[in-house]
Amino acid sequence: MQRRVFLSAVASAMLASGLISAPAFAATKIIDTDLVIVGGGLSGVAAAAEATDKGLKPVLLEKLSILGGAGNFPEGSLGIGTRYQKEHGIHWDVQRTVNRFLEFNHYRTNPNVIRQLIAESGSTIDWVVDKGVEIRGIRTIMPEEESFHCWHLFKGGASTVIAKLAESAKAKGATILMETPAKKLIMQNGQVAGVEAVNSKTGETVIVRAKKVILATGGFAANPGMIQQYVPDSSDPSVSEPIWLRSALVDGRTGDGINMAMRVGGATAGMSQVVGNAPYLPDRPPINQFNGEDWLKQGRCALAQPWLWIDRNGERFFNESRGSVFTEVYAAMTAAGGIMYNILDQAKFDQLMATGPLIPFNAIVTVGTPLKALPKTFEEGMKRGWAFKADTIEDLALQIGVPYENLKATMEKVNEYAKTGVDTEFGRKKEHIAAFDMEKGPYYALKGIRTYFLTLGGIKINRRFEALNGQGDAIPNLYMAGADMGGLFMDTDDIKVEGATSSFALTSGRLAARYAMEAIGHKM
Ligand SMILES: Cc1cc2nc3c(=O)[nH]c(=O)nc-3n(C[C@H](O)[C@H](O)[C@H](O)COP(=O)(O)OP(=O)(O)OC[C@H]3O[C@@H](n4cnc5c(N)ncnc54)[C@H](O)[C@@H]3O)c2cc1C
Repeated sequence: MQRRVFLSAVASAMLASGLISAPAFAATKIIDTDLVIVGGGLSGVAAAAEATDKGLKPVLLEKLSILGGAGNFPEGSLGIGTRYQKEHGIHWDVQRTVNRFLEFNHYRTNPNVIRQLIAESGSTIDWVVDKGVEIRGIRTIMPEEESFHCWHLFKGGASTVIAKLAESAKAKGATILMETPAKKLIMQNGQVAGVEAVNSKTGETVIVRAKKVILATGGFAANPGMIQQYVPDSSDPSVSEPIWLRSALVDGRTGDGINMAMRVGGATAGMSQVVGNAPYLPDRPPINQFNGEDWLKQGRCALAQPWLWIDRNGERFFNESRGSVFTEVYAAMTAAGGIMYNILDQAKFDQLMATGPLIPFNAIVTVGTPLKALPKTFEEGMKRGWAFKADTIEDLALQIGVPYENLKATMEKVNEYAKTGVDTEFGRKKEHIAAFDMEKGPYYALKGIRTYFLTLGGIKINRRFEALNGQGDAIPNLYMAGADMGGLFMDTDDIKVEGATSSFALTSGRLAARYAMEAIGHKM
C-alpha cells in the first residue's frame, strides 16, 4: 500500500507517533509493506528476489541511480556442490570448506552463520543459474594445486546476476525505488518499524513502514572518515586506498546501514578488517585497472609478475610466485611499508609482450595472453609517475628512490638463485626465477600500492541474521546482509575459499529474507 501526503496534513500525527524526527517541508510519501530492504547491491537484490520467489512483495531502496554497488564487479562466486561442479566432475565438500574457513579465521567467527552460508552456496549458484545467468567456467587465482575449484565465473560478470535478480524481483511484484537513500531506522516501542528515506532527486521524504527491515548497504569502503577511524592498515592514506567503484563520488558504500543500526544499539565486530587487494598501480580510480582500458589492465598484470619485487629499501619482501594471491600480497606489503616496485629488464619486458604473463590477474588477464599494450602502459605510466625506464640500474634506483647498492645486491642475489634454481629467501618457484642482465639496459620498474575491495566489519548477527545489540540480544525486526554483517572475518577474506564475499552476500540476502518472512508468518 502506498500513500502520498503532504506533511502539513500529517506532520503532527507522525511527529507525535515518533515516525519522523524533524519538520520537513517537501512532500512525504508513506509506504506500508511487510519487508523493506535497504541497498540494491548483491545481497539486497538477492533478498528481494528470494522474497518475491516466495510470494512476498518487498520494497527495495537504492541510494544511487544504478543497482548493484560493488556487486557489479565480481567475476564469480563460491559454490560448493553446484550442478555445474557435478556436471564437470568436481567434488568438494561443505565440511572441508567450513573447517578451512574456521581455521583461517582462528575460530574467531560465527560458525553457525558460516556453516549456513557455505552449505547454501551451491544452491545459491544453482538459483542464480535458474534466473538465467550462465556459468562460463570455474577458475582459480590460487596456485592450481591449492585450489578448491569453487569459484564459479558468471558470463558477463556479476552485473548480469544483479540484472537478472532485479528483473525477477520486479516481475514478481517488488517495488524498487532508485535514488532513495535510507536515512534512519524508524523505532516504535523499542522495535524497528521501518525506515525513513529521501528521494534525492525531488527531496521527497519516503517513510516505509515495515514489519521487517534488512540492511544491505555494502559496508563502508567509501567512507574515508570511518576507514581512518576503524582500519589501522590505512593509517597512511598515501599507500592505501579503496577500489572506488567509479570514482570517489559515486561509490555508495558509506557505512549507512552500519551507522543506522549502531544508532539503535547495534553492536559491531571486525570493523578493522578489509579485503585487501594488492599490488595495484597508483592510478585513480583503481577500478579502471579492473575493467578499464587494456594498457591499464595489462599494466596491473605486469606489476604482479614474478620478476623482482622490492620494498622502499630495495630489498625483497615476498615470494613473487604468489603474486596473484592478492590478500597475501596486501598483508606482506603492509608489513613492508605499503609500497613495492617490480623490476624488469628488457628480456622480461619482451617476454611479457610475446608470450604473456606467468601468473594471472584474477580472471581478467590470463596466463599466456601476450601483453601487447605494455609499451602504452609505460608511455602513460611514465607521465603519471608510476612507471620508470632507465639505461642503468643506478639511474633506475635514483628514479624510484631506493638505495642503488641495495637494489644491485638484490638483483645479484636473484641471479645466484637463477643459477641454482633455488630461492633460499622466499621459495620462489624455479620456473619463475630469471636472471637479470646486469650490464645492459634498459631497465624498467612499475610502482605498486595497496588497495582494498571492501570492508568486512559490521553489525553482529545471530544465526537468523538478526542484528544484535551490545548484550547479544536481537534488535526486534532488524536483519543484516552482505558487507553490513559483522563478526564473520577475523582477518582478511580467505581467498582459498574463492568468491566467498560475493557468495556470502547473495546467500545472506536470501537467508535474511527467508528468516524475516518466517518471523512474520508468511507461508513459503
Ligand atoms: C572490483 C571488485 C571486484 C570484486 N570481485 C569479487 C569476486 O570476484 N568474488 C567475490 O566473492 N567478491 C568480489 N568482490 C566483492 C563483492 O562485490 C562484495 O562482496 C559484494 O558486492 C557485497 O555485497 P553487498 O550487497 O554487501 O554490497 P554492494 O553489492 O556494494 O551493495 C550495496 C548497495 O547499497 C547501496 N546503499 C548504500 N547506502 C544506502 C542507503 N543509505 N540507502 C539505500 N541504498 C544504499 C549502495 O549504493 C549499493 O548499491 C569484488 C568487489 C569489488 C569492488
